[in-house]
Formats: sequence, structure tokens, C-alpha cells
Amino acid sequence: MNSIHHISNNTHSTAENNIAIFNAVVKKYNMDGYQFTAIKNAKCTIQKGEITFVYGPSGSGKSTFLNILGMLDKPDEGQITILGQDVLSMNDNQAADFRAQHIGFIFQSFNLIPVLSVRENVEFPLLHHNISRHERRKKAEYYLESVGLKDYINRRLSEISGGQRQRVAIARALVTTPALVIADEPTANLDSSTSNEIIHLMLEMRRQFDTSFVICTHNENLLNKSGQLIHIVDGKLKDAGDSQ
Ligand code: ADP
Repeated sequence: MNSIHHISNNTHSTAENNIAIFNAVVKKYNMDGYQFTAIKNAKCTIQKGEITFVYGPSGSGKSTFLNILGMLDKPDEGQITILGQDVLSMNDNQAADFRAQHIGFIFQSFNLIPVLSVRENVEFPLLHHNISRHERRKKAEYYLESVGLKDYINRRLSEISGGQRQRVAIARALVTTPALVIADEPTANLDSSTSNEIIHLMLEMRRQFDTSFVICTHNENLLNKSGQLIHIVDGKLKDAGDSQ
């Protein structure tokens, strides 16, 4: 894991390079009358154009961390700054708009819309953006070409493989040109060679579009790539600059 550098001392970070900053973030769940702390005093920084792998055992808090980073859930304590904005002070509508504009998501089960074609799936997030049909189509085709699906643009989802579906999901995540793409176990439903292809594609897209990727995985074989590493154990972020 020589190529992985830890994020405990971001001495080269500058304010404009910081896409997301967590400070003393705590998330608790109420369970049958008692409170369970799923994220404990989390501190970390996600930098521009950087790939970050979040790993740890099942139940350690990875999805909770990603949901908070992706503004799908709010923590109980702490501060979160994304692109210089205090995102926890936003109301639900502001948060939804900010998320649609700046954050893309890739899921383990692809979460594509089966009745739509490959291209229509990629166009879908642009329906909330104020651009013409022609422009939507052009953008979708551009990102589908970037992920190697030029010849599959008009296919139905049932006519492409699992690896190709995840490529569609990557194009869909990138089509709105977000600063940050969050991928929760993106290779869990793929065989190992397809998983490697998908991880390499994300590394390539990161380089091409200067997008930050945060990728959660429980598969340590995927970690031997260049990038940051956040190890979560029992809700604590290791290697992420917290002193616990
Ligand atoms: P991971 O993604 O690493 O498997 P999760 O973030 O899903 O971990 O879960 C972390 C811990 O929080 C687990 O103990 C899980 O049972 C608990 N948890 C997650 N979501 C909820 C919830 N909505 N209500 C109560 N407990 C939850």
C-alpha cells in the first residue's frame, strides 16, 4: 500500500483545494430506547481531484459516513463545509439543490431506471437543470463516450452487462459535472476483473475531470491504488487526523 498516503497531515492543502471538511462530526441512532453512536468525532478533509477509499468491516459506519458526506443525512454534532459552504445550516430545499448541483452518486446496485435507455438514464439528472433537450443529449453522449459506451447509447438496460451498467451509473454521476462523486460499494455486485476495470475507470475519470471520488468498500484488494485512505473502525475514522 505504498502508493496510499494518509490524510493525517494535509500540509499541502489550501482552502480552494478543500472540497469537504468534517470537524468533530458525531452521528447517533436511537435503538430500542438507547442511543448508539455510529460516527464518533470524525475529522477529515476531501481534496479537489483526489480519490479517497473508505474501508472497514461491515457495520463500522461507512454508509453512515457517506450518507452524511453526500448530504443525505445530517449529523447530531459537528461542522461540515462543502465547497466553502456550511452545509448543515441549509434548509432541506437548499440542501437538495446544492446536492443536485455538486454531488454525484454511484450505488452498488446501480440504481438505474430499467424502462429508460442507456442515454436516457444519463440524461435523467439533467432534467432538474435548466438546459435544452439537445444540450442534455449532447452531454449524456459525451460522458457515455468517456466511459467507453459509445456503441451502447441506445440500448435498453436489459441488453447490457453488470459492468456496463456501472459504467452508465458513472456517466450519470458525472454528467452534472459535480465536484464530488460518492460511490458506496460500487463493485460489490461485480466479478473481480470487472471490479478492477470499474475502479480504474473511476481513477481515469478523476484525472480527466478533476472530480473528487470517495469510494467505500469492504474489499481491501481494491485499496492498492493511489489515493487517500480512511479506515473506519467502530465509528472512528483512523488515519484521518482525529486524535482518538
Ligand atoms: P457499514 O456501512 O460500515 O456497514 P453502517 O454505517 O451501515 O455501517 O452502520 C453503522 C452502524 O450503525 C451499524 O451498527 C448499524 O447497525 C447502525 N445503523 C445504521 N443505520 C441505522 C439506523 N437507521 N438506525 C439504527 N442503527 C443504524
